[in-house]
Order: sequence, then C-alpha cells, then structure tokens
Amino acid sequence: MSANAEDLVFHGGVVWTGNPSRPWAQAVWIRNGLIRAVDTDEEVLSQAPIDAKRVSLDGAFVSPGLTDGHAHLISLGQGADQVDLVGAESLSETLGRVQVAVTQRQAEESGGWIQGRGWDQNDWPEKAFPSREDLDRVSGDFPVALRRIDAHATWVNTRALTEAGITAATKDPSGGKIHRDSQGEPTGILIDNAGDLVADIIPKPGPMTIRRYIRQAAQALIRVGVTGVHDMGMSATELDVYRQMAAEEFVPQRVYAAFSVTDPQLPDVLAAGADPEWQGWFRLGMVKFYLDGALGSRGAALLRPYEDDPSNQGLFVSDRAQVEADLEACLNAGFQIAMHGIGDAANRMALEVWGETLEKGAKPSVLLKSPFPSSFLGDVSQSRPSFRIEHAQVIHPNDLDRFADLGVVASIQPTHCTSDMPWAPDRLGQDRLAGAYAWRSLRTRGVLLVSGSDFPVESHNPLYGLYAAVTRQPVSGESKPGWAPEERLDRSEALVSFTAAPAYASGDLHQWGTLQAGKKADLVIWSENLVTCDPEKILDADCVLTMIDGVVVWTGPTFSWDSE
Ligand SMILES: [Zn+2]
Repeated sequence: MSANAEDLVFHGGVVWTGNPSRPWAQAVWIRNGLIRAVDTDEEVLSQAPIDAKRVSLDGAFVSPGLTDGHAHLISLGQGADQVDLVGAESLSETLGRVQVAVTQRQAEESGGWIQGRGWDQNDWPEKAFPSREDLDRVSGDFPVALRRIDAHATWVNTRALTEAGITAATKDPSGGKIHRDSQGEPTGILIDNAGDLVADIIPKPGPMTIRRYIRQAAQALIRVGVTGVHDMGMSATELDVYRQMAAEEFVPQRVYAAFSVTDPQLPDVLAAGADPEWQGWFRLGMVKFYLDGALGSRGAALLRPYEDDPSNQGLFVSDRAQVEADLEACLNAGFQIAMHGIGDAANRMALEVWGETLEKGAKPSVLLKSPFPSSFLGDVSQSRPSFRIEHAQVIHPNDLDRFADLGVVASIQPTHCTSDMPWAPDRLGQDRLAGAYAWRSLRTRGVLLVSGSDFPVESHNPLYGLYAAVTRQPVSGESKPGWAPEERLDRSEALVSFTAAPAYASGDLHQWGTLQAGKKADLVIWSENLVTCDPEKILDADCVLTMIDGVVVWTGPTFSWDSE
C-alpha cells in the first residue's frame, strides 16, 4: 500500500499532541504532507473523505516527531568506519578491539590511519589515562588516533606522534594540553585543541564519503523516531555536501545546522548570511562556538580547580575577545548562536558575553512566529532564542537566574547526566553539584530546555534521553530514586524538550513540533505509551512508524497498512 495516498487517517490510537490546550486525541488525518485534523475517532472518521486510506492503530501511541537538539550527524554515520570503543570495560578490552582492526587492515594490506572513538577510562578499573606505549603494543605500523567518548581527548600511538611532529619540545597549543611524563615526553594523550595537531594531518573524508555518512546516520535515526536534528558544528566541505543533497531533495531528515566558528571559511559563510528559509529539509541557521572542553577529560573550565586534580581548572579553548568579535559578526549575519559551555566558568563567560551583547543593542535573530505552548514550557516570555548554551552542564547557582533574564536557551543532554553521575561528584565535589545538570532549577525559572543526545557521544536513540530526563538513573535502573531526583523532568516536559522546544528554538514551532491541524505531518507511532508507561518500559518501546512531511520514511516489522 502506498505510503503517500492523498488522504491518510490513523485512528484508534492514543495520540499525544504536545498541544497544551488539547493534549490527547485518538486520530490524525493527513493530506498532502499536512495534518488536516487531530481529534476523536468519531470526528476524524466522519470528516475524512470516503476514499481516505484508514489505518487502525489498535491503541498504539502517537507523538510528534522527535528532534535531537544537539548532535553530530556525520560523525554518527562515520562510526561504521571507525573502531568502536564504546562500552569497553578495561584497557585490555579496549586494546583488544584496536587489535582486531589492525589485524583486519593488515590482512587487507591497506595503509593509512586507524581511527576509533568512544573509549572512556572512567569505565575501566584503571581509571587513569592510557598511554602511547599501551597502544604501540597492538598497533603494528599504523598511526592510530582514538577519540575519547566526549571527543575532548585523543589517544594516539608513538607513530601518530611522530607523523604529527609532536615531541617533548612541542608547546601546548592555546586551548589544548599535551600530557607529558616526568621527562617531559608526550604520553599519547592530547586534550582539546592539542588533538588538532593530529586531526589536522589525517586525510579528511571527501564529499562522496560524507554523503554516505549522512545517509547511514539518517537510516539509523528514522528507525528510532528522530525526524529532525540540530547538527552542531559543520565544516565548509560538509555544508557543501548538505547543500548539494538539499538541492537534490535528498536530505533524509530535517537538519537545522550550525556552522563551526573555527572553520577558515567562516567569513564566506557570514557574507552569505543565515538561510532565511528551509531549503527542503535543510537550513543553515546557527554558528557553533566553543568555550571549553568536557568534564570527563577535565577540560571543562571551572571557577575553582577540579576536586580530584587541584592543579587543574580546565581549559578555555577560545580567546574571549575573539568570541565577542565573532558573536557580533554572526548576529549581524542573521545567525543564531550555539555556544558550547560545560564548566561553570564557561557558562558564566557565555552569559557575560551574551549579556554585554544585548546591552549593546543586539537584536534577537530568531523571531517568534507562533505563540508558545506555555503550560508545558513555563513562562518563557523573556525568551530570545537567538542564543543557546550547548550542554549548560555545570552552572554556578548564582548564574541560574541569568539564563532566564537573558533569554538563553539551555540545550541539555539528559544522557550525559546519567553517564557522568558515577564520577562527576569526584570531579566537582559535593557543593558544586547543586548547579550541575540542573534541569528543574532552570525550568522553574522559565528557561527553555531543548534536549539532545550529542550522538555519537551518547546513543542516538532518543528514548534513552527521555528515560534519563525523567529518572536520572542509569539504564540498569540502579541507584533509585536517581541522582538529585528533584532535578528530574516530568514525562510531558521531557517529551516537549524533544519536540516543541527544539522546534521553537529553530523558529519552527508554527510548522512542526506539535500535532495540530495545519502543521506538517511529522509524527511517530510507538509500541508503548511514552507518557503513562512505567519508566523502565520507555526503553522497551519500539518505533513502529516514522513520518516526515507526511512521507512514511520508516515502518517497523509490526506495522501493517492493511488494518482498516
Ligand atoms: Zn556535541
């Protein structure tokens, strides 16, 4: 049965609309990509034309399409070409996975770099950073570069250091740190900008490869109900590929893109300006700024030293004067600003820089095109969503109010909280936890929370984020009632943070983000009621069908078009 019949009615479902004035319905009628009606079965079935295709959902749950508010689409697709180190529970298991890749490459007699990602020494009994010597034991003649799970540290072997020309004499680059032994020799761990010394000499994937990565990622995403992605920090080459794909009507997801402020072609992109409209399913609307590193690799910039490393306060990776100059230029070119801030010092700097910009009379670059669903999202009348802080992870309690006062969007990753909870208290100490992953504290102040996964740092399946947001527990379900449970979101708030909130943040709530007549038909059918099911059941839910613009882009094995 065609997925694109002119009139399509899903009925007999449990429809969560995301529309606060009418949260629940039973049926959705779709025509030519738009929602015609969302109502009771009786109403919709009597309104829809006789020849409409009617599909009974048999009580299945329907939600608006989910948008990942902070993610890296190309990196997700690239994962298939890299050694996957996620979940390795020891140094030897990690090295074993590298060795498998080395053996395979030796058998293929192919040269070049071996790259991998996802190691996390916090998950190993050793806890300490690994060394180049560890890697040398398994890597043969290959140069090897392995990104840490947070992408803020790179672990390389001796061959890679040699090819990059990194020696005891190499100075730490600005915003980066080369770990050294007692003789001053590099240990093989490169923090933040120091990783670029190696990354810059690894051949970059070409346009055809990038295109393959985008398609691979999109295929994975539609299977888990993701209809849109806020793609954070692309290069000029990657942007060109997206533009090309959009021109061919080939972008398989709604991609709201951020250009990387560090890309040398920023001046050209600013001269062209932000896209005033969507080009098919693609829109360049943001510039991604970077203030600090990440907590796991102790690169997040803190106001006081790390509790477990008293000589270290983390790293600012950008110069403040440069940030201020770039910020002004980007706003003038019509861009929304997405500023990476993890540590409390970085979040404070982001707030200060934005506050000064507003005082200078900067105009918000994103206009509010539709009224806000206030009962779900709180009082956001102050909101000027031209400025977002990405991660907003550790905030000094004195700074929480400023998020609301300055209309800053908090772009949060609920799974970072549950991944970090085993070791974050060691890094931060008890008193600093008060403003860490403080979703409820932000929410009650009227701050708009946009949720994402930061995939491939975390799973691209948004159900993990939903689960983390409402439980603050690890997937194992241990440590009930969750870490700082007073900061949990309720089920509707969590769903809104993946649906209406990202739509609002990109200026598109009038087009999608809720299921309402007149909006584009972006919706997902699930096997579980994500609002009322037991929290543990959230992770068992199957995505049954994914629709974007009225086009069915995915159906799971349990879906049938034939049920009238
Ligand atoms: Zn990210």
